[in-house]
Amino acid sequence: MTFRTRFAPSPTGPLHLGHAFSALTAFDMAQAAGGTFLLRIEDIDSTRSRPEWERQIHDDLRWLGLDWPEPALRQSDRLPAYRAALDSLWSQGLLYACSCSRRDIAEAASAPQEGAPLIGPDGPVYPGTCRGKPRSGPLPEGALRLDMARAMERLGPADITFTETGARTAPQVTARGMIDTVGDIVLSRRDFPGSYHLSVVLDDAAQQITHVIRGEDLFDATPIHVVLQRLMGLPTPGYHHHRLIRDEHGKRLAKRDDARALATYRAEGATPQDIRRLVGF
Ligand code: GLU
Repeated sequence: MTFRTRFAPSPTGPLHLGHAFSALTAFDMAQAAGGTFLLRIEDIDSTRSRPEWERQIHDDLRWLGLDWPEPALRQSDRLPAYRAALDSLWSQGLLYACSCSRRDIAEAASAPQEGAPLIGPDGPVYPGTCRGKPRSGPLPEGALRLDMARAMERLGPADITFTETGARTAPQVTARGMIDTVGDIVLSRRDFPGSYHLSVVLDDAAQQITHVIRGEDLFDATPIHVVLQRLMGLPTPGYHHHRLIRDEHGKRLAKRDDARALATYRAEGATPQDIRRLVGF
């Protein structure tokens, strides 16, 4: 099996040093393994994604010396695949429509009888308000959630785990753990027939990714991805979650942090070698 990995930025702002570290780590690992590095544009957030940021991603990565087969996969071109997956999960009774707002969820999750609200990798664990909605008929419009208890029942008693080659040890999450601490995650959003979790899993499979290399901020999302892979009969790649690049206060860099944008360093005359040094290669 040849090594295939990807870098999957969202075109919602300039790439910064953290992105450079992630892209270079994936690219170098692919080179070392004689494999392939791919680019994927994660533009499901249509309100924040911009073509100019997408162009800048290509430009910055080429400047860094990275190379990938064109065209890059773009999530906004993948709607039929996401829809087909949702259709299939819906017809198996694993999804339900959810009309709760963030506020409804926060209120229900912090009701006195609920104890302290549980925070999962996707924010507050969904309290299940809409779980009883009918699950027959055509795929409903609007937000859809995965019924995690049903999903775990379908998958049987084996723990959820994966192969991790980064700094942390892969967890062994029990079915109970998935239900109680992750809960009914969103698989389709009101404004887009898909969600980060659904699209990332389908796209990694479509791009035949053998190794997912990404920041450790996504470590806790990985068991969700493994559950979705198992439900949809997709292979589970190996995972490598790398350290995050932080600012001098220890805070992880964000898109709005223009001072550390690659474009700023370029404009100031930095070379790709300077960037490698700055992120600790
Ligand atoms: N699009 C995600 C991000 O920019 C990365 C997703 C992934 O690598 O799985 O943080």
